Amino acid sequence: MNIILFGPPGAGKGTQAQFIVKKHNYFQLSTGNLLRDEAKFNTPLGSQIENLISNGEFVKDEIVNTLMRKCLNNLKFRDRIIFDGYPRNIEQAKNLEVILAEFKQDIGHTIFLNVSKKTIEKRIMGRVTCEKCNMTFNEYFNKDQIDLHPCGIKHLKKRKDDNLDVVIARYDIYMKSTKPILDYYSKKTNFTEIDGSLEIEQITSKINDILKV
Ligand code: AMP
Repeated sequence: MNIILFGPPGAGKGTQAQFIVKKHNYFQLSTGNLLRDEAKFNTPLGSQIENLISNGEFVKDEIVNTLMRKCLNNLKFRDRIIFDGYPRNIEQAKNLEVILAEFKQDIGHTIFLNVSKKTIEKRIMGRVTCEKCNMTFNEYFNKDQIDLHPCGIKHLKKRKDDNLDVVIARYDIYMKSTKPILDYYSKKTNFTEIDGSLEIEQITSKINDILKV
């Protein structure tokens, strides 16, 4: 089944998605990662995306939806996708349903990681991401793992949009545009809310229980 991991920036979606990928053989479809890859190209589209991400603003639905369609077209990922960071507004949620129906797929579960703004600030300010494998760590909480990371510590970088002003902007945009689609998903039977301020392992165990069903 396909899963949507839903929650504000810094809720732990990426971290949990990485566990699900390993344990349950899933494919993580993070629109943030796809867009950051696209922004590396020295093209007008690349710089447009780079600017929007740096300011914590949304990239146009049209661009995100096109990237999404490309991935869903790949049969390798069929019914094994974790959507991380998508959909982020009602239009994207509706578009996802259209594309999934086209590819004869659906959403098996929507998991909402709920966290407060205070917790998010702390998590994001300490976050470092490996530019090679996209694994994320926290400088305050994962010092040992950072030192032992197989790609090498030099590849662990702070994301440009992980600074306090942009974090607050991203959270506010989330509350305005993304939180309203919670109403849309929470009415469905396959919706679960998890307290995202729990320890990482506790959240993973709750997600594992959901995926066993
Ligand atoms: P994330 O890695 O999910 O925190 O996303 C980082 C940034 O990428 C966001 O702040 C947006 O600028 C952009 N982005 C990621 N996913 C989307 C999306 N579904 N729609 C629009 N912009 C997105």
